[in-house]
Formats: sequence, structure tokens, C-alpha cells
Amino acid sequence: MLHSASPTSYVPPERLTEPAICPACDAKLTLSHGVIHLGHYDYDGKVRAGLIWTCSDKCFLSWEHSSFMGKC
Ligand SMILES: [Zn+2]
Repeated sequence: MLHSASPTSYVPPERLTEPAICPACDAKLTLSHGVIHLGHYDYDGKVRAGLIWTCSDKCFLSWEHSSFMGKC
């Protein structure tokens, strides 16, 4: 199941204008223009779940695929 949410649900208003770099495509944009998903990542060799910011839903899927799904 794919969960996505607007950063405004999680990021304090004063931080929404901060620049961020998409981990999937390296695009630079502000936090308010991206999306937040519940994703998975590798932490000391263990899979953890957490909130992941990317510039778009498409980037989230490619990021999750390359760094998590490929290891299963
Ligand atoms: Zn991106």
C-alpha cells in the first residue's frame, strides 16, 4: 500500500521554505514542494521504516526500489 502525505502535515511551517535535495533524482527544491512517504531504509544492516521526503511520488518509488526492494 502506498501512503503519501503533504509535507505540511509533518514539517513545521517555518521549515517549509528550507531547500532540500531529492534522494532519488538530486533535484533541489523546497520541502513544501515535495511529498512524504512511509519508506524503508537500511540502518546498520537492518531494515527500518521511516518518513522519507522526495520531490515526487515517482521518485519515492524509484528510491524505495533501488535501496530497499532490491535487497529482499
Ligand atoms: Zn526527485
